[in-house]
Amino acid sequence: MRRAYDLVIIGAGAAGSEAAFAVADGGKTSILLVEANHFGGTCTNHGCVPTKALVKAGKVAQAMRTAAKYGLEAVEPRFDWSKVIGRADEVRDHMLRHGPEPFREAGVEVAYPSRARLLGEHRLQVDGRELEARAVLLACGLEPLIPPIPGLEESGYLDNQTALELEALPRRLAVLGAGPIGSEFAQIFARFGVEVTVLEAGERMLPPEEPESGEALRQAFGAEGITVRTAAKLERVSLSGAGRRLELAGGSAVEVDSLLVAVGRELQGDALGLDAAGVEWTPKGVGGGHRRWPPLHPHRHGNGRNRGP
Ligand SMILES: Cc1cc2nc3c(=O)[nH]c(=O)nc-3n(C[C@H](O)[C@H](O)[C@H](O)COP(=O)(O)OP(=O)(O)OC[C@H]3O[C@@H](n4cnc5c(N)ncnc54)[C@H](O)[C@@H]3O)c2cc1C
Repeated sequence: MRRAYDLVIIGAGAAGSEAAFAVADGGKTSILLVEANHFGGTCTNHGCVPTKALVKAGKVAQAMRTAAKYGLEAVEPRFDWSKVIGRADEVRDHMLRHGPEPFREAGVEVAYPSRARLLGEHRLQVDGRELEARAVLLACGLEPLIPPIPGLEESGYLDNQTALELEALPRRLAVLGAGPIGSEFAQIFARFGVEVTVLEAGERMLPPEEPESGEALRQAFGAEGITVRTAAKLERVSLSGAGRRLELAGGSAVEVDSLLVAVGRELQGDALGLDAAGVEWTPKGVGGGHRRWPPLHPHRHGNGRNRGP
């Protein structure tokens, strides 16, 4: 017989973890939390937390360089990148409070490391096991969007995860995309001495924001020696010696050692089996005709985390 749950939560990132604690009631409601990679999801492991630790390190480096404006002697910081990235890893590890145990203590069953795939509206497969669920919470986050640019796959690139695993810094780095993630990485690496070029296909930095933000950022980047090229559409990538040659629309090219792709994030609905479950989706997310489920706890309101079993 198939195992049946009241609720299956796919993903133990910020959303799935909070939801699991909010709904948990010591086991009276049968909940399964499925996590394929790391508890804490993107934010803790490859997003907000380690990048903010590096932003802080970069601020210190920049403060040393610009110390003269505070009446101190300006110095060019000397550093060992493995120690800088090592501290970011420590901050991340400190934030990784949640392994499976607190969820189990709250009465939530945990499948980890396990990947979930929807087989139908109420049916899932987890590690080859077929399950039933009265409700499914999709808290699976987004993955880096990698555009189909000729030569990109073959030449290799960094994304937000692999950029945080670099053991040594490249001398020249191109960052594709001037959104918040690309801009953050561009400034971090530039403040550690990497020659950074930001390539943005749109007319300005931070494209969805008001133009003033993009302009302010462009000026700040210019003052720090970061090259920003807007209306720069990458058309082809090829290996060039140990580095990469980036050919842009219009005929110009940029030579770099590494390329970091940060052009957005996408929902991988095929891998999740969203079509089998009849969920409307696009790479931007779930939308439209997804079903409204009846409440799991019809009489309970608010965050149930502190309620005992
Ligand atoms: C570099 C970077 C910096 C960022 N900085 C900030 C910031 O400063 N401030 C901010 O607010 N936001 C920031 N974000 C965004 C933030 O990380 C996300 O908004 C947040 O992680 C979304 O949480 P989530 O729980 O929805 O998804 P995620 O954190 O992505 O968690 C989803 C989880 O689901 C798991 N999963 C996926 N598919 C399956 C499956 N089929 N089976 C089982 N498990 C699965 C994944 O392994 C993952 O652990 C940043 C993102 C990046 C990439």
